[in-house]
Amino acid sequence: MKPFQYLRPTKLNEAIDAVASDPNARFIAGGTNLVDLMKRGIVAPEKLVDINHLPLKKIEQKDGMLRIGALTLNSDVAQHKLVIAKHPLLAQALNAGASGQLRNMATVGGNILQQTRCTYFYDTALPCNKRKPETGCSALEGINRNHAIFGIGEKADQKSCIAVHPSDMCVALLALDATVLVMGPGGERRIKFADFHRLPGDRPDLNTNLEKDELIVAVEIPDAPFTKHIHYLKVRDRASYAFALVSVAAALEIDQNRIKNVRLTMGGVAHKPWRMYEAEKILAGQTLSETVFRQAAEVAMAGAISNEHNAYKLKLAPNAMVEALKIAAQIS
Ligand SMILES: Cc1cc2nc3c(=O)[nH]c(=O)nc-3n(C[C@H](O)[C@H](O)[C@H](O)COP(=O)(O)OP(=O)(O)OC[C@H]3O[C@@H](n4cnc5c(N)ncnc54)[C@H](O)[C@@H]3O)c2cc1C
Ligand code: SF4
Repeated sequence: MKPFQYLRPTKLNEAIDAVASDPNARFIAGGTNLVDLMKRGIVAPEKLVDINHLPLKKIEQKDGMLRIGALTLNSDVAQHKLVIAKHPLLAQALNAGASGQLRNMATVGGNILQQTRCTYFYDTALPCNKRKPETGCSALEGINRNHAIFGIGEKADQKSCIAVHPSDMCVALLALDATVLVMGPGGERRIKFADFHRLPGDRPDLNTNLEKDELIVAVEIPDAPFTKHIHYLKVRDRASYAFALVSVAAALEIDQNRIKNVRLTMGGVAHKPWRMYEAEKILAGQTLSETVFRQAAEVAMAGAISNEHNAYKLKLAPNAMVEALKIAAQIS
């Protein structure tokens, strides 16, 4: 690891100024991702701005929404009574992520901004467009078992990066229509969660639309009727901590056996958390049944493209969607 300067501001504007005034400065929260990247020589910030002393640890219900401070720990969010009562889908997704020890360190802001787990990204001896744009993507011809099936083009030159976004929490936040509140040198702005993460396109090095000197302050989740019929399904290689091969967040509002309102999102399938808008349209207004769930899952798979080792996701993803919807709907 290279030497770096370490600051511990207590005011938001001090933290933002410290990063805005130095191109080689980075915020650090729990450090569970950033320190790994530093140890492996993938990033080498000259200044670390530790944000743990900023007042961003509150969870509060206000103006029809739940506001969760960016420095709240993943374990505290998952156990918070307001989260469990209002957004149990978020609690389930958080509890499916990482391990207890990691959740005790990982923060909400850091989880949203965590880097991909593509193994080639972490191997500095091999080309990677995300690490260094225009050097190539080792995963395309490599072991791409964990990689994306959505949001990539058919042609090789459209596949600048086929990595997936690894967060469980973000899949639930997308389903819950969250908004990310950020603050930069110019003040506050709100970014819809659906617009927060990016597809790779010609800038695979960028994961999000956040500016480098913008601080995530909170996430805001509007009140929603998804408290009873929800399920977060995570398919992974082992039951202990492992990233999702595919995951599904399913949330239903049911009125007399009919779907009044629905959200369906997935993780492990794209460069960003992925919402199944077309499948939601198929489901809305329908009577609950496995047949309808299967139709929706098939529609959701339109446009999916596999590589040599991840074709199994073309079957696994729709099956996982159907299973998550069945559990959410409590039908067997
Ligand atoms: C072994 C292992 C297994 C894991 N398994 C899972 C899993 O199954 N599911 C899952 O979802 N995650 C998993 N994770 C990832 C873990 O959840 C993330 O590392 C964690 O959420 C990152 O949060 P942090 O606070 O430690 O971020 P940090 O490492 O401190 O920061 C991460 C990035 O976010 C930036 N940042 C942090 N906070 C802010 C802010 N408020 N504003 C602006 N920028 C900010 C930092 O500059 C850095 O770029 C795993 C991690 C490990 C090491
Ligand atoms: S998939 Fe993305 S992160 Fe992985 S090697 Fe290719 S460019 Fe790098």
